Amino acid sequence: MSVMSSRLPLLLFGGRAAPRAPRLARGAAAGGSAETRSGEHAQLRSALRKLIEKEINPHVDKWEAEKKFPARQIFKTLGDAGFLGVNKPTEYGGLGLDFSYSIAVAEELGSIRCGGVPMAIGVQTDMATPALARFGSDELRREFLAPSIAGDLVACVGVSEVTGGSDVASIHTKAERKGDEYVINGGKMWITSGSQADWMCMLANTSAGPPHKNKSLICVPMDRSGVHVAKNLDKIGMHSSDTAQIFFEDVRVPAKFCIGEEGKGFTYQMLQFQQERLWATANILHPMEVVIQETIEYTRSRQAFGQPILNNQMVHFRLAELQTEVELLRSLLHRAVDLYVQGHDVTKLASMAKLKAGRLVRELTDACLQFWGGMGFTNEVYVSRLFRDGRLVSIGGGTDEVMLSIICKYMGTLPGK
Ligand SMILES: Cc1cc2nc3c(=O)[nH]c(=O)nc-3n(C[C@H](O)[C@H](O)[C@H](O)COP(=O)(O)OP(=O)(O)OC[C@H]3O[C@@H](n4cnc5c(N)ncnc54)[C@H](O)[C@@H]3O)c2cc1C
Repeated sequence: MSVMSSRLPLLLFGGRAAPRAPRLARGAAAGGSAETRSGEHAQLRSALRKLIEKEINPHVDKWEAEKKFPARQIFKTLGDAGFLGVNKPTEYGGLGLDFSYSIAVAEELGSIRCGGVPMAIGVQTDMATPALARFGSDELRREFLAPSIAGDLVACVGVSEVTGGSDVASIHTKAERKGDEYVINGGKMWITSGSQADWMCMLANTSAGPPHKNKSLICVPMDRSGVHVAKNLDKIGMHSSDTAQIFFEDVRVPAKFCIGEEGKGFTYQMLQFQQERLWATANILHPMEVVIQETIEYTRSRQAFGQPILNNQMVHFRLAELQTEVELLRSLLHRAVDLYVQGHDVTKLASMAKLKAGRLVRELTDACLQFWGGMGFTNEVYVSRLFRDGRLVSIGGGTDEVMLSIICKYMGTLPGK
């Protein structure tokens, strides 16, 4: 029996027998996706779905209205159940499974009835911690990774700045080496969980060298003197997730808080982005299927001109086209993830998947919202929430245009400077 199959039931089901294979996701039950992953992936998803239905979904509307969710409390619940370190090393409290299980978790997190909460969970598991898990010293992993997996610390990732997010090489924040410390000055923008986080995985310039070789990733505790959380930004969507602007003024951290080698931060961050982009793609699949399914139900029950709206070929054909696109995206994602697990560089496929995910969720929510008529323009229905929240997929973690540039680079069509 594999390590994974023996560990999963014990850790996730408290030593009791694992539940039967779960019922398919809502979209799947209605002729949508069939699960192509193993029974163990399905078990993991089933356990997570139960937790989401009990601990998260009943509170989502309140958190959306409050523009924040209690990250500390929810992360502790998820950490206790083993969901914050599915593919992290067991010596730091992870389950030691491969990345496809983290993607299964990302897909199931899509059953949370908003985008903000899953995004913050994704920051914790697949955006702020992959480089630390892979390149960090044992001491650093014990200090920051283990408690993040346990849900005792909330993490954020600090790459973007006011002066620009797409051009990562041109960030300005500096971490100057003084003795055995770094002294950090600068600012970070758009930081998910920024007003709640205990530590930041920060990309900063640690020397004056060439922009791809002068950066380092540093674990920065957010309670240090000189860290100022300026404001929670007012956004059109992702309401339950707080997004902060943060300033750093002579913030001192030990030099040993640098992840891996000094000067390798840009490379580490680019690797970390691969995981982030696959996670973002996985996380948007289920919400799109839910919107298709709910649109089918609504248009079937609503009459216009003497028949259900769904009976118009323009409506049911369009929904079939969109379902087909979701299936294609899932196939691309799983192919990229399988190659990634085998150790291949999937930068091109991950960029393609993220590009397609961002464009598809915009196209799909726009089309479906239209079929809801006036109801689609209210805050009463899920389609309008996904219309707003899903818009971020084309922006966060690298915009569509950045994805296109990467794909062009791999195609050999990007003009040199
Ligand atoms: C809700 C939210 C949460 C976020 N969370 C985080 C976080 O936790 N941590 C973090 O570090 N960042 C975070 N971000 C930042 C996000 O990653 C950036 O917004 C994104 O990378 C784009 O950067 P920018 O906003 O500075 O846009 P800019 O870089 O200013 O770009 C503006 C526009 O110009 C386009 N553009 C730029 N260059 C080119 C080009 N060469 N050709 C064509 N078009 C181009 C871009 O694609 C974009 O459409 C978050 C953003 C949001 C909105």
